[in-house]
Amino acid sequence: MPDTMQDCYAPKSKPLLTITEALDRIRQAIQPIEQSETVLLNKALGRILAEPIYSPINMPFDRNSAMDGYAFASADKPTQGAFDLECIGISWAGKPFQGLLQKGQCVRIFTGAVLPPETDSVVMQEKVQVDGKTILFPEHTSVHQNVREIGEDVKQGSCLITLPKKLTVSDISLLASVGVAKVPVKRALKVAFFSTGDELVTLDQPLTSGKIYDSNRYTLQSLLADANVMATDMGIIPDDKQLLEDNLVTASKAYDVVITTGGASVGEADYVKEILERCGEVNFWQIAIKPGKPLAFGKIATSYFFGLPGNPVSVLATFQQIVAPALRKLAGESPSKALRITATCNSLLKKAAGRQDFQRGILSQDDDGNFLVVSSGAQGSNMLSSMSRANCYIVLPSECTGVNVGDKVSVEPFSLLLDERH
Ligand code: AMP
Ligand code: MG
Repeated sequence: MPDTMQDCYAPKSKPLLTITEALDRIRQAIQPIEQSETVLLNKALGRILAEPIYSPINMPFDRNSAMDGYAFASADKPTQGAFDLECIGISWAGKPFQGLLQKGQCVRIFTGAVLPPETDSVVMQEKVQVDGKTILFPEHTSVHQNVREIGEDVKQGSCLITLPKKLTVSDISLLASVGVAKVPVKRALKVAFFSTGDELVTLDQPLTSGKIYDSNRYTLQSLLADANVMATDMGIIPDDKQLLEDNLVTASKAYDVVITTGGASVGEADYVKEILERCGEVNFWQIAIKPGKPLAFGKIATSYFFGLPGNPVSVLATFQQIVAPALRKLAGESPSKALRITATCNSLLKKAAGRQDFQRGILSQDDDGNFLVVSSGAQGSNMLSSMSRANCYIVLPSECTGVNVGDKVSVEPFSLLLDERH
């Protein structure tokens, strides 16, 4: 792929950055936050671990049984033939057997119960015959089986979880199993977001001609719903240069990241880039992506700034492709990329060369496991209905000039679950 793409819609402008170039610049520009905090384990899911965690205990803590059965000493098994042992008590989970076993004796034992120290083997209850207190062990009884040894899963003092790590459900389980009740995590990012535009009204107002509902703040609120983000909705700012500047500068003092939608283009009322140039630094402001060409990234004071396009679908696409990786880096996550798979396209897709397209699609998998994708409808960057129907992006490279029915395409699913109705 060439380093830069010529924007076919604006031949006189400078070549636009590709997404890869934009993401490289973001990775270089963003320094992960250093501050951390301690949270209770039941609030730690999805947080970014700030320090490695060492196990305070062995896991298992005791030598215990993996089965319901009978615990015995391997020395009691004769070299040949079935054998009898006398059952002298029970070891329950949580209530270990307290007595002392002599030669020729065994105990009834349940899963998770501590093995008496004189024993080293457990036979499954299904394998023995019980006659009162006499337990008949068959000839082929295995020894040293069904025993969970102390520390066989985790050794006391060993590193349980290394950095970098975003805590998953299994990490939480693991930490709980060794009694770690609090964890050090990176502090959450403080993110402020605004909508800009004279045409915007809040949802509690009736719509009048020329106005539209401000959907972008709901989009951003939802996109920012993440364990590592504290998002603040700063409302709507009209297309007033001074007001916009005042709001951006004030927000940049209190937030790690400021995000706006609208006003990032080249229209008369598009002030975002100008303000960013005057009050901060512009890193880039246009990328070769569709939807979403106008996208300003830079800094105002110590705050990172993203000026997203106004069109609702562009907000979604640029956030997911550009802002989300940036926030992950800032939050301290290790680099990651979205899962992409190859699917057969069953729609004709129009596309002009020059920008990487994220078309909205519906992905399905047939009974043989093949992935199929169709367009979810009209692709205008104002058209949210086809976005709402979609369950994936069909990712078309910059040089692509359209897709025929039957062509293979790259698809980025929104989720790992596929609706069975498709
Ligand atoms: P702009 O980038 O400000 O020129 O906006 C591009 C398009 O997006 C225009 O049609 C705007 O009306 C629309 N738009 C801008 N902001 C919002 C918003 N917050 N919610 C819905 N649509 C918006
Ligand atoms: Mg506008």
